[in-house]
Amino acid sequence: MSNNKEIFLCAICNIESGTCPEDCKFCTQSTKYKADIQRYKRKEIEQIVKEAKKARENGANGFCLVTAGLGLTPKRLDFVCEAAKAVKKENLGLILIACNGTASVEQLQTLKEAGIDAYNHNLETSQDFYSQIVTTHTWEERYETCQNVNKVGLRLVCGGIFGLGESQEQRISMLESIASLNPMNVPLNFFHPNEALPLVKNSITRKQAFELIELARQMIPNAMKIMVAGGRELMFGEEQYKIFEKGANAFVIGDYLTTQGRTPKDDIDELEKLGYKIRRERD
Ligand code: SF4
Repeated sequence: MSNNKEIFLCAICNIESGTCPEDCKFCTQSTKYKADIQRYKRKEIEQIVKEAKKARENGANGFCLVTAGLGLTPKRLDFVCEAAKAVKKENLGLILIACNGTASVEQLQTLKEAGIDAYNHNLETSQDFYSQIVTTHTWEERYETCQNVNKVGLRLVCGGIFGLGESQEQRISMLESIASLNPMNVPLNFFHPNEALPLVKNSITRKQAFELIELARQMIPNAMKIMVAGGRELMFGEEQYKIFEKGANAFVIGDYLTTQGRTPKDDIDELEKLGYKIRRERD
């Protein structure tokens, strides 16, 4: 089936970086852990638009505006809306995604009116493991934001991160919770260790990671995209394009939030060599 061969690419634009007071143990953007990353409050709108154009040229179908922090303050909401409107004005044909943490129905409605098509909020891990990874906010708060996204009719992008020391049951439990929210896109992240973080190593093997992609596809059959996001290169190495044989049909091109990815050209060349087609049109 040709559909199986269609791959969606998504680019991330970190519009506010490394300023988060929360304590998620896997995240270099937390100010608690002093990781050596770029930290800034606001990327220039002009620069954001430039990156959106570049992403489109590189074949991206989604473009995600990400801010660090627990959620949307009034100022941050204004900033994301300003960025969304500026990108929208260019008519690039991109699906515009916002990823700005905890959000109320009213805030999400405002984003929607500014041109945002989808909202990304990951559950990160299972409900019963969450307090071992984050103590400054709750899993339930995350779940509620995802429900809010559905209430306002934005497309929900909801996934999580593996390799934090969770058990297999907890991985399955997280996938069940994600399935219950009926997301359109499920980003699967694999922990990328950093010496500044309290978690020192990824607790998942490559074989388990491949099995989790298959499991996600089976457990969330209605998701339009199962996306492999952060940690792809490190987790899958030279086997990274096998993720598509396991049921993934999307991935992130270019750099991640605080780690470097392969160049988009390397990825696209490799995908085309393997016979995959890049899906450029909006859906
Ligand atoms: S809330 Fe988000 S940005 Fe802040 S530490 Fe947690 S994962 Fe990182």
